[in-house]
Amino acid sequence: MLVGCDGRAGNAFLVNAVTSGLLSTGVKVFFAGLTPTPALQLYVKTHGFDAGVMVTASHNPPEYSGLKLILSDGVEATRDVEEAVEEIYRDLMFRRVPWARLGYKVTNVEDVNEFYINRILSHVDVDKISKKRFRVVVDCANNVGSLTTPELLRRLGAKVLTLNCDLSHIPYRNPEPSPENLGELSSVVKSLGADLGLAHDGDADRAVFVDRFGRFLPGDRAAIILCEHILSSKGSEIPKKVVTAISSSTMIDEVLSKYGVEVIWTKVGSINIARTMIREGSLLGFEENGGFLYGRHQYVRDGAMAAALMLECLAYSNLGLHELYDKIPATHVIKTKVTIDPRFRDEIMELIKQRLIEAFSEDRVIDIDGVKVINPDYWFLVRPSGTEPIIRIFVEAKDEATANKLLSTIVTLTHEVIKK
Ligand code: MG
Repeated sequence: MLVGCDGRAGNAFLVNAVTSGLLSTGVKVFFAGLTPTPALQLYVKTHGFDAGVMVTASHNPPEYSGLKLILSDGVEATRDVEEAVEEIYRDLMFRRVPWARLGYKVTNVEDVNEFYINRILSHVDVDKISKKRFRVVVDCANNVGSLTTPELLRRLGAKVLTLNCDLSHIPYRNPEPSPENLGELSSVVKSLGADLGLAHDGDADRAVFVDRFGRFLPGDRAAIILCEHILSSKGSEIPKKVVTAISSSTMIDEVLSKYGVEVIWTKVGSINIARTMIREGSLLGFEENGGFLYGRHQYVRDGAMAAALMLECLAYSNLGLHELYDKIPATHVIKTKVTIDPRFRDEIMELIKQRLIEAFSEDRVIDIDGVKVINPDYWFLVRPSGTEPIIRIFVEAKDEATANKLLSTIVTLTHEVIKK
């Protein structure tokens, strides 16, 4: 098995604990060192490993860390595999091998990051991108993206300015690449008039973009731009199917309908998107939080791959990111949450679902994960949080008045249900 880690404080002891545990069961352990999650995933898939473990807490707060289990195809384990592993761990059901079968060393693998950069370069038009000499500001949250993305961009001919790319710096930038954590990136890009601002989360499987005016592009908008670029430039071998979670904007349907694209909606979670892409033969998947999956490369979120594709898109289109962004129709988006008693979570959600289906009987309803209601002029999603005792409500409409009216209808209905 291949073990790797991001640069979070405390990861050295977790890496050693994971390694000791694996060795005690007779597993041969290889160590990739500091590396982005998608780089480890690619190496597991391409080098015949049985599995991988990535020590990271991804986008979560700095004081957290955790483990991501990667299967032999490079894709994260599904929730049921994780549960099976947790059960084996809890019940001490794992094997222990006799002393003579314990290995005597852990093998360091030195070329994981280099292999990853080269593989990404093989998927884009390096000459065309290099000629543009793009100016890019990169914010890697003081984590492992710093080891690969600036180098990748330089090999794409870009003039790269790094921000929060020092791994030894504590505290590091909050690992979640959301607008409130990227004020610095936004103002640097704006004052330089750079072509692109790019930010990763802690383990660099996500990428979000900032245009030259310092505007943050929501992940689903950036993904629409990337999908359109790939569909229009990579020819007929790209199947006309895009997979995304129900929390993404239905704008994807509208913008890509001219390509005859079918949008397949899944439950929230990148693993659901990845497994659906594989099953449906799709090469394009994304999340609204900046996760982009390009199946020709691998069926996982990959921040650096998304960045390289974005530069290729800018090179091919001869447009600035701000112009591509402004081509997507503007809408009004509101997000809110309602606190609930977690004991009644499922009952509350079921009642809300029934009431919404009655109230919006003319609209399309998707209820695979909460309730999503789709109308040509708006969409909304009501969904219980997986980790907190709240119900999240997302509303997007063509105008502000419709969005506000919808939100108040949904919130009122939700409170009525909770009272009941
Ligand atoms: Mg991540």
